[in-house]
Amino acid sequence: MLVSHQQRVGVNSLAVDAIDQVLMNSRLHYLGSAARIIEPVRHLAILTCMDARVDVSALLGLRPGDAHVIRNAGGRASTDTVRALAISQAVMHTREVMVIHHTECALGRFSQAQLDEQISAASGHHFAEELGCFTDPIGAIAEDLERLRACPYLPARDKIRGFMYDLASNLLTEVFAPDRAPH
Ligand SMILES: [Zn+2]
Repeated sequence: MLVSHQQRVGVNSLAVDAIDQVLMNSRLHYLGSAARIIEPVRHLAILTCMDARVDVSALLGLRPGDAHVIRNAGGRASTDTVRALAISQAVMHTREVMVIHHTECALGRFSQAQLDEQISAASGHHFAEELGCFTDPIGAIAEDLERLRACPYLPARDKIRGFMYDLASNLLTEVFAPDRAPH
């Protein structure tokens, strides 16, 4: 049984927590379909942005059990991302990494100073952590590819590829870091 759009709207209007809503969806949609094998079947790890418009599974046709998906603001190759990928490759035997950034990303629209200010104002605590803001979206992908390809903790670095996802056209375009440009 699926939850109709009207029912979801109705639930929303009662101000039910989003977590409770998605939990209910998971029970209805994925009952019994969880994969049994802990290692990703496609030996693939994906790094992408937390943006709610990026539906990685739908975009790539992934099923539960297929791939690791690591998400953060911007889909940046942060220290925490590197930690997750190190586990993904060394322990769960993934061998390929897809870095997917997208158009209209908030980290490209706001500066570090603007976000620092907003977070500080909203929380009441001075915030100055590195957020990975960028002004050149393609350059940001290239930077993340270079960082991952240079990371000594990743045993499989020959198939790390970057993509720009255009939200308007729903298309993925590969981005080549300078050292990997096609000849
Ligand atoms: Zn984003």
